[in-house]
Amino acid sequence: MITIGCHLSAAKGYAAMARDAASIGANTFQFFTRNPRGGKAKALDPRDLEAYRAAAAEAGITRILAHAPYTLNPASSKPETVAFALQTLTDDLARMDEATPNQLYNMHPGCHVGQGTEAGIALVADALNQVLRPELTTTLLLETMAGKGSEIGGGFEELAAIINRVELSDHVGVCLDTCHVWDGGYDVADNLDGVLEEFDRVVGLNRLKAIHVNDSLNPLGARKDRHARIGEGHIGTEALCRVVSHPVLRHLPFYLETPQDNLQGYAAEIALLREAAE
Ligand code: FE
Ligand code: FE
Ligand code: ZN
Repeated sequence: MITIGCHLSAAKGYAAMARDAASIGANTFQFFTRNPRGGKAKALDPRDLEAYRAAAAEAGITRILAHAPYTLNPASSKPETVAFALQTLTDDLARMDEATPNQLYNMHPGCHVGQGTEAGIALVADALNQVLRPELTTTLLLETMAGKGSEIGGGFEELAAIINRVELSDHVGVCLDTCHVWDGGYDVADNLDGVLEEFDRVVGLNRLKAIHVNDSLNPLGARKDRHARIGEGHIGTEALCRVVSHPVLRHLPFYLETPQDNLQGYAAEIALLREAAE
């Protein structure tokens, strides 16, 4: 059985997310640690966490993925933006360790905003060197990006360059987003094996810890980052079924971030992908 779920709202707490996941046939889920635009995180509620552990056990949830706010930019040229990123990362990792140890925390590397890719890579690595601690149980993931604007992480080399500069790199992995890599020019539809070989050569498949399964509204290499529902984009249902069935990937947790009106939309996609991976 594959581990698959979707992005869920964290508004009602951890236990509600485990129940929502179970209600749509998911055995994992992704959530924002706080408002995606930033701001303060809600205080952890011990009773909610206790209820969560029971609900997660019942739903067979052993793996979850938190997502950092996407306004976070450790590669910014503004000191206050970098300071906010450092503070948020430190706080989020501490909360993850406290609430749900040994789980995954995903972030977008950042945007260099005109400083250049090299400088951006150095700034992201500096930030990780400041927030990672040897005792952390949470693994921090860098997400593969579409490469729009001044985004860092649109190519595997950029992620490898960041990781190579991180001292505690045992605590760092990668989350591969199918829409993003497709938009970044990696043909996961017609050459999935080739893309995985390239990832292995440049980053190392041992670093790959999670997959975001999304179709793309745009053609290969468009560098746009517009997610589509499974089968309603340029990657297509068959290719995304091959992703969740692939022998190198099928043990990883999969997360849908497709645009849906309600949870039932995710339930249908989870059922479709589960069946493909049987
Ligand atoms: Fe993301
Ligand atoms: Fe994603
Ligand atoms: Zn995206």
